[in-house]
Order: sequence, then structure tokens, then C-alpha cells
Amino acid sequence: MSYNLKVVIDKDSGFCFGVVYAIDMAEEILSEDGYLYCLGDIVHNDEEVDRLKKLGLRIIDHEYLKQLRNEKVLIRAHGEAPETYRTALENNITLIDASCPVVLKLQNRIKNSYDDNEKILIFGKHGHAEVIGLQGQTNNEATVFQDIAELDEVDLPRQITLYSQTTKSTDKFYAVKDELIRRGYELKANDTICRQVSNRYADLETFVQNFDKIIFVSGKKSSNGKVLFEVCKSTNPQTFFVSDQEELSQIAFNPNERIGICGATSTPMWLMQKIKATLEAY
Ligand code: SF4
Repeated sequence: MSYNLKVVIDKDSGFCFGVVYAIDMAEEILSEDGYLYCLGDIVHNDEEVDRLKKLGLRIIDHEYLKQLRNEKVLIRAHGEAPETYRTALENNITLIDASCPVVLKLQNRIKNSYDDNEKILIFGKHGHAEVIGLQGQTNNEATVFQDIAELDEVDLPRQITLYSQTTKSTDKFYAVKDELIRRGYELKANDTICRQVSNRYADLETFVQNFDKIIFVSGKKSSNGKVLFEVCKSTNPQTFFVSDQEELSQIAFNPNERIGICGATSTPMWLMQKIKATLEAY
């Protein structure tokens, strides 16, 4: 029996410009040199990382970087802390800096606040590469939190400055801001959420209404993937999170259903097309 599913990919889904820039840079060097070191997963999508590894991309961590000498190393869109640049200088490493301009601007703003002796709070995920890079601008003195309850035990001055990791949920950021004001702090709040993520909310809400089921494609480590999945699911409860086409087997489809496919800013279009082809063959 054929399911005759009608499958449409959201035309606005796929890589944001920060990720396109990093991958273009990597592919250019890979085609010239045949290999390239990259500090951390170039993008939070295992399928895309595997594709680039086959072209010669070598993913390394910070410990490996300390041992490396006289090589080229790509810095991905998330950016890096100043310490990485110092290590590269000492080890004669040529950095191919694909830090996203949006992240670099945020790093600069945080650095300026730090130089002005402001008490900095970063609303972001502990241990996330971008957050480590942001905290590095403050000599690791900024307070990072992902839940307002974490601040209950922290002794903060009356005047505080709030920033956000670029891929956090706008709603959650404003809820945090309101709560800090309610707690009586004199707050300088900076909404530094990337518009490549937040502008997708409204488009996705409109898109997902047109389908019986939504297949949201994203790597499990992607922060914006989690946020955008929640946006889709709250509008269309029949939204399913998958990382690759194998995971489609866990979803029960009905004949003639209309299926929408969308994804995170780190989801490659080729993967969504592969999932579309798989569904159309049902
Ligand atoms: S989501 Fe925004 S900040 Fe992050 S890489 Fe993409 S464009 Fe840059």
C-alpha cells in the first residue's frame, strides 16, 4: 500500500548565514588542502559533520589544540574565548576564523561592559561553546545561568547587566528580565538573541498550521533546534523531532496526510530533502 503523503519543506528553514559562512570556508580549504582541523563540531548536526569529515575535516578539542603546532584550525560560528587565540599564537597555528559576526558583536559588547566594571549575567546554557566564548570576555567572571532559580543563592550587586546567548528563546529571556526587575535590581537588559532564530518563530507558526504532521529535523545538541521545535509543537501538537530519516520509523503516518518539514539553523537542506524523499516513498 502507498501512503501517498503530500510533503512540503519550509522554504525558510535550513542554515543561517553564520553556519553557511563557516561551512563555505571549511569546504574551500578542504578542496585546496585535503584536510582541516576544526575546534569542536563545526555545526550541531551529526549528519553534516559526518559529510565534512569524509572530505577531510578533523574535529579536535581544546586539549588537542594545545599539542598541535604549525597547522590551520577553523573556529566555528560559535566563536571562541581569548585563551584560544593566545594558544594559537604560541603554537604557530593559523586560525581560520569563521566566528559569526553576530556572536563577535556580542563578545565585543560583553567585553566593553566588563571593561566598564559592570556585573554581567549571561542567560545561556552551561558549557555551550558560545557561552564559554562569551564568558571568556570577562575573565570568566560573568555569572552564567539557564534558569532563574540558579540566581537564588548568588549574591548580586544592585546594578546588573544582562545578556543572552544568541539562540535562547525570546519569551524566556523576557520572563527572566521581568523577574529580575521584580526582584528589585537596577537592570541593564540587552536582548542579544539572534534574529536569524527569533524571526523564524512567526514564519514557523504560520507554516506548521497547514499540515497534519510536522517533521522537525535537528541535531539533538542544537540549542536553537530545541527552541524552534517548541515553537512548532505549541502551534501544531502533531510535531515530531527527528535527527535522521531512520527515526521516521517511530512515527505512525496515515494515508494522504499533509506533512510539513522544517528545521533548525544548523539543519542542512540536503537532509530535509532526503527525509522528504523517504516520506514520499512510503
Ligand atoms: S544563529 Fe545567528 S548568531 Fe548563531 S550562527 Fe546563525 S546567524 Fe550567527
